[in-house]
Amino acid sequence: MKNLGFKLEHCRPNCPKSVRKWDELYETLNHKLIDLNLYTVQEEKFSPVLHHHLPKIAIAGCPNGCSQPDIKDFSISGYESPRISDNPCLQCGACVKGCLENAITLVPEGVIIHKDRCLACGNCQKVCLSGTIAPGESGWNLRIGGRVGRHPRFATFAGQALTDAEVIAWVTDSLEDYIKQGLPHERLTHFLENRANSIQGLRASCPFVNPSP
Ligand code: SF4
Ligand code: SF4
Ligand code: SF4
Repeated sequence: MKNLGFKLEHCRPNCPKSVRKWDELYETLNHKLIDLNLYTVQEEKFSPVLHHHLPKIAIAGCPNGCSQPDIKDFSISGYESPRISDNPCLQCGACVKGCLENAITLVPEGVIIHKDRCLACGNCQKVCLSGTIAPGESGWNLRIGGRVGRHPRFATFAGQALTDAEVIAWVTDSLEDYIKQGLPHERLTHFLENRANSIQGLRASCPFVNPSP
């Protein structure tokens, strides 16, 4: 297979856990990355071009992260915050049982969601038959600078995007900066490590999402 100069991965298609459709984002991002001609860029910086030189990007449809986004240069994970509606709670306890983070407490008036523990995985909305817990805000959690190897590190939180267009701009703008400003022999991971906090235009936090890896 032709080396395109990057690795773009996604998680399982049609997964019932997914809270964010990723196929259009994947296709568009793939085309944009091809247009950047990254293999030629890598050839100018490294000889030979090896696997660890290639930019790595992973998209996951939910916080479970099956495509291992948090060890990639660019980590893109879907989230969907729970929203408490006016529908009366049936006190069935399904949401409490379905929340792997113990982030829901049943009270006589309904439920309380503990925002500091909630990962916005969407499980509670799916099991709540009364619609008391309904889908809230949906978007992408973005992390940057993950890698494996001699000095492994998890990607660190870089912000959130509500639209696919914002995600694409975040990845391609960062890569264009690397192409223009990266030093000879400087790997992308090291370039990003030094500028992870300078990503512009993305919200630093969300009221419902705990950004910790
Ligand atoms: S990351 Fe979430 S949506 Fe993707 S395959 Fe895993 S569980 Fe399914
Ligand atoms: S969205 Fe939050 S509260 Fe609901 S199941 Fe997931 S972690 Fe628990
Ligand atoms: S919020 Fe929904 S799932 Fe949770 S206890 Fe009430 S009715 Fe059941």
